[in-house]
Amino acid sequence: KRLKGHEIREIWLNFFKDKNHKIEESASLIPNNDPTLLWMNSGVAAMKAYFDGRIVPKNPRMVNVQKCIRTNDIENVGNTARHHTFFEMMGNFSIGDYFRDEAIEYAYEILTSPKYFDFPLEKLYFTYYPTDIDTYNKWLEIGIEADHLISSENNFWEIGTGPCGPCTEIFFDRGPEFGDFTTESIKKDIENDRYVELWNIVLSQYNAKENLTREEYPELPNKNIDTGAGLERFASVFQNAKTNFETDLFLPIIEKFADISGIEYKGQKSFKIIADHIRTITMALNDGAMISNEGRGYVIRRLLRRAVKHGKQNGITRPFLSELVTVVIDLMKPSYPDLLDRQDMIKKIIHSEEIKFLETLQSGEEKLKDMINQTQSHMIKGEDAFILYDTYGFPLELTEEYAEELGYKVDVKAFEVEMSKQKERARSARTETSSLASQNQDYLNFTDESIFVGYEKLSQLAKIIK
Ligand code: ATP
Ligand code: MG
Ligand code: MG
Ligand code: MG
Repeated sequence: KRLKGHEIREIWLNFFKDKNHKIEESASLIPNNDPTLLWMNSGVAAMKAYFDGRIVPKNPRMVNVQKCIRTNDIENVGNTARHHTFFEMMGNFSIGDYFRDEAIEYAYEILTSPKYFDFPLEKLYFTYYPTDIDTYNKWLEIGIEADHLISSENNFWEIGTGPCGPCTEIFFDRGPEFGDFTTESIKKDIENDRYVELWNIVLSQYNAKENLTREEYPELPNKNIDTGAGLERFASVFQNAKTNFETDLFLPIIEKFADISGIEYKGQKSFKIIADHIRTITMALNDGAMISNEGRGYVIRRLLRRAVKHGKQNGITRPFLSELVTVVIDLMKPSYPDLLDRQDMIKKIIHSEEIKFLETLQSGEEKLKDMINQTQSHMIKGEDAFILYDTYGFPLELTEEYAEELGYKVDVKAFEVEMSKQKERARSARTETSSLASQNQDYLNFTDESIFVGYEKLSQLAKIIK
């Protein structure tokens, strides 16, 4: 089957609606009154009040397509075929209503029926938690071959104490042309682009308590189902795309960038990163995030700077991001029509931030020139390199390369000391309390790979100083 992004979404919502699920609108990317979470990062995060019993839903069955941001996946963007910082998670939920049997029956039906997704059964693999024999037996009973059922220790969903349980995940085999992997790689969570994880079904069945092993946890009186399936990954399978980026959800953004840069798209990582980040920035600003130096605003700022740097790497020195926003909004407006009301504002914010950053880069080059002129020891101080990095957005590698041309070195050790001091400051400024906040920590620990910003210009500069 060949399905477009919006067709996948419609099939999902309608299938579960026909099974008496209430369609829930996507919640905002900005969690409402939840200090434990920086961004909405899963479908179930939007349903928290139902899952912890604060609110009893009118209908215990719900279906949604939730906007998500996962900053902990930033390093994966462009490196794997399947990770984004912003993505849409399709989910079905049961609050104390149906449980394992129906959840698995629904999954089987929507995945394999010619009326719905129509996946060839031989391409699907299913993981289960080793002691969760009920799930194993249910998949067998419904017609899955034993060699497509894979036991994995990773299939347990648990955050501290409280509701938890095993999960069962569905993988699609894209075939040996995506690498010489065996099904062992699924089990061991080995990085591979052959077996794509499509869907996670969480069976919230136990109540985790301290000092008990998983096998000893008591059963919950009301068992819940929560699931999450990545829309972009379904699209890549249905469109036989090499990565999620070669689908109708991303290609128009990438093509626009190819237009702007005059460079043909051949799978370059930079193009993927730019397309990914501009989607995230646009959707976050639409939900009311602002650009700033802390928390959510800092995430947006860094994504934007990273996109600008990758633009520069492709020879673009003028502001270009707001042109991409137009394309993002065209793609997303059928699902999120509120984008239309805010598009002018979103473009303005992005444009002025981009100009500001380009100016910063410019003055960073001046600053570097000063530093070189002032140092007597043929060594650029770690503190100076840090100022270039932190204030002017210069990656360390750029400063090093430039220094090297002039026969200088950078005091990398001292630079790293400054880096860790800053991380410490950031850490103590944060207020998040639960492990759900770990994504934020991962993000703060992430450092950009080396990108040669305006290198042309700098080497010219180097010659002049010489
Ligand atoms: P992976 O192992 O590939 O990183 P995950 O196990 O972290 O995925 P879950 O937390 O189980 O993902 O989320 C449910 C589903 O959401 C996944 O099965 C996948 O389809 C989708 N998904 C998760 N993270 C991303 C992402 N960064 N970009 C796009 N889709 C994602
Ligand atoms: Mg992940
Ligand atoms: Mg996984
Ligand atoms: Mg998973």
